[in-house]
Amino acid sequence: MKLEALRIPPRLRGFAADDAQVFDVTLAGDRVQAIVPSASQAQAQARGTLLSALVEAHAHIDKNYTVEEVGAAQGNLFAAIERMEKHRAGWTGETLRPRMERALHEAWQSGTRALRTHIDWVQGDPPAALAVFEALRHEWRGRIELQFVSLTPLDLFADLAAGERIAREVKRAGGTLGAFVYRNEGLVHKLGRVFDLAQDHGLGLDFHVDEGLDADASGLRSIAQLMRAREFRHGVVCGHCCSLAMQDDAVANETLALCAGAGIHIVALPTTNLYLQGAWERTPVPRGITRIREAAARGLRVSLATDNVQDAFYPYGGYDLLETFGLGVQMAHLAPADEWLDAITVSPAKALGLAWDGRIAPGCPADLVLLAATGEHELIGPRGRQRTVIRSGRILEKTQ
Ligand SMILES: [Zn+2]
Repeated sequence: MKLEALRIPPRLRGFAADDAQVFDVTLAGDRVQAIVPSASQAQAQARGTLLSALVEAHAHIDKNYTVEEVGAAQGNLFAAIERMEKHRAGWTGETLRPRMERALHEAWQSGTRALRTHIDWVQGDPPAALAVFEALRHEWRGRIELQFVSLTPLDLFADLAAGERIAREVKRAGGTLGAFVYRNEGLVHKLGRVFDLAQDHGLGLDFHVDEGLDADASGLRSIAQLMRAREFRHGVVCGHCCSLAMQDDAVANETLALCAGAGIHIVALPTTNLYLQGAWERTPVPRGITRIREAAARGLRVSLATDNVQDAFYPYGGYDLLETFGLGVQMAHLAPADEWLDAITVSPAKALGLAWDGRIAPGCPADLVLLAATGEHELIGPRGRQRTVIRSGRILEKTQ
């Protein structure tokens, strides 16, 4: 298959382009065979924009599509947690499977090649969602590479036996250890216990951290300090980091420098943060997006991810990372947008430790998303977002 006259965003290029901006790409079997500059370099002649298939770094497929049953929480994160807790008591494999599968179908159709979901895990015993996840991970092999993170309230790790059981089961099932961290009492001590478990069992870590607008939330800084102090070698991902936006520039920049030094991956979640953070009794002013640009200035490339879909935390949305990207671009002033497309491709691929980092080059997998956008200003419009998904060298689906 030959794809002609395409833009490939600079951060997605794994080849030397010199001054060329428009390329012809030849696919052979399930690989990219060759990439050459097009005869005409006129941007006006470009037929579209080529991306590597998308990578979802943070989802909750055990909770999605439950909003009709639980109701939306209108800006109150802790009310949402409480509502989901009640609802969760009735979760079984039979009720979980249809909504988990629906999420994967949506993600697949929009061009997602890998997805990491958090799974609510609120006691020592594994949740019902784990067995469903393991079955789906097997069934979806070759289409979407699935990863999971145990999502546990940090306080539960004060119970040493419960923490040990969680870590063992996460290890057995090939997952990543996680926790919800927000201004907990004895935060550093409890985080230390999570690091102990990760080190003992050889596990990566993925936190929900500082998801609120209290400037004194310091989970991110503590995690970076622990990583350095322990020379922690496994990957650490930190989602949300909203409070970073509320801190003084000097404090926030110091934390980001620690994060960059430690090698933390930050994931921003625009939809859920916009919905939950900020006032509901008037127009909200602080909007709860982390400092994506300041992080990038330190070489720390942030991922953008979907987070909640149609549940108590966020009652709208779906699994199209281009939508999430568009919102992130507007919310955090990520311009030019072309320069930030690594936030849904290369950066999450690195954060998830995928075999392919998502840079397009001869020999890389022919897992690609061809967007109709012929220039960066079309990227977040409905026409430009129309796409052809190519998986293993074959056209999967053309959206309207
Ligand atoms: Zn989340």
